[in-house]
Amino acid sequence: MLLIADVWTMTEVGRAQAVYLEGDRIADVGLEHDLSARYPRAKKSRFERITPGLHDAHTHPLGWGEQLERLDLSGVHDPREVARRVAERARSLPPGTWIRGAGYLFDHYPHRSILDELVPDHPVFVRSRDLHSGWANTRALELAGVSRDSADPEGGAIVRDGVGEPTGYLLETAQGYIQRILPPGTVADLERGLRDLARRGYTATHHMGWCPLEYAEELARSGRLPLRLWWAMDKDNWQGVKPGWRGDSLEVAAVKFFADGALGSRTAWMIEPYPDGTHGIVLDPLEFIREQGEAVLRAGFGVVTHAIGTQAVRGLLEVYEQLAPLVSPARPLRMEHAQHVRDEELPRFKGLPLALSMQPIHALEDADLVRHHLPGKEHEAFRLRDLWNTGLPLAFGSDAPVALPDVLAGIQASLHNPLNPTQSLNEAETLWAFTRGAALAAGWLEHGLIRPDAPADLTLWEGGKPVGRVFRGEVELG
Ligand SMILES: [Zn+2]
Repeated sequence: MLLIADVWTMTEVGRAQAVYLEGDRIADVGLEHDLSARYPRAKKSRFERITPGLHDAHTHPLGWGEQLERLDLSGVHDPREVARRVAERARSLPPGTWIRGAGYLFDHYPHRSILDELVPDHPVFVRSRDLHSGWANTRALELAGVSRDSADPEGGAIVRDGVGEPTGYLLETAQGYIQRILPPGTVADLERGLRDLARRGYTATHHMGWCPLEYAEELARSGRLPLRLWWAMDKDNWQGVKPGWRGDSLEVAAVKFFADGALGSRTAWMIEPYPDGTHGIVLDPLEFIREQGEAVLRAGFGVVTHAIGTQAVRGLLEVYEQLAPLVSPARPLRMEHAQHVRDEELPRFKGLPLALSMQPIHALEDADLVRHHLPGKEHEAFRLRDLWNTGLPLAFGSDAPVALPDVLAGIQASLHNPLNPTQSLNEAETLWAFTRGAALAAGWLEHGLIRPDAPADLTLWEGGKPVGRVFRGEVELG
């Protein structure tokens, strides 16, 4: 098959005009004229642009698959409208099935009777846009065992009526009563999340936790993985697991740690305090990451660490300097997010066996948070250009379901950094980070390039957006 397009090869060749595929491999790349002459009988297809297959270098595909099934209540302010939408969903589901959703914002805490009236037989739990509160119907409260005798947990409250009965509205940690009994995600949820990514033109993604490995292994075994999957284990369940490939689409590759929290909840670990004097929180202590990281590397896994705040980034650089001698250059260490970096730390990145996994799309939603929580420190956030200049590979992704796996939004945020325009990247650099950079972060050296003998995983573009892909040599148009 001969594909003709503006071909971004991500190799020293730069751009080409045509790609010739044989089976699941790229066989030839070059000028349209030359390839047409060389393969006169090949079936031809034309596209505006072809890049190596898009990778999303940071997703939680099970959570994304679950989110696709949930009610999207964003923009709803009226509890009766929420109840109406829940009832509409309930009609297509057998009684007893949980109905979940999120996104509403109310100016008061509504009573469960509004839900009960329309949805008596399905347990319902819907959550506010910021996820700091949730609303349950009576069926859900019964299943969770929440009654007038239930205590308010630390850091939360069960909203009650005048006689002390729960109204169904739960604040902060009180939502835990319901969350503990919600059914866990399923293989079908994982498959749905991955299929959605494939439909968006991705040919690979890097799983960053919160899904049983058996789910992915089941999809791999039955040939149902719709893209290539690079898998990070959670830090407490990697022992006894063998790193390596399961078939040729799933690699159990790494173990993930968390150096800190996130900016929106002021739990990102900062050197300079937030305006309220706090510094955020430590999740996995640095010494734990160093010790466990060493064990993980010796067991043949890579090490992935979430680091958002300036202190988390600085501390992790120190840990990674110590781990560096154990790291094979083909499987770099990874820093996820690297969201807030001080000038002083920039020189320390250079030369480490490290890939920087960043999500430019977060800059869109976090720009206001940064201005609010870190006034005067905007220049330390989302330093795409400065980190690109360290020479380390940047690997771009979305962190779905935290943000939409919308590659165009990610590209726009990289081209026009909303916090600091001088920290933007150009189009070639941005696409590199979504393809070759992500492949390097995975340690997949033959991926993310368009050159002879590379796997035929490509993304097809029309009108500036992905319209399909080639996966294992097969053209799929969305
Ligand atoms: Zn994540």
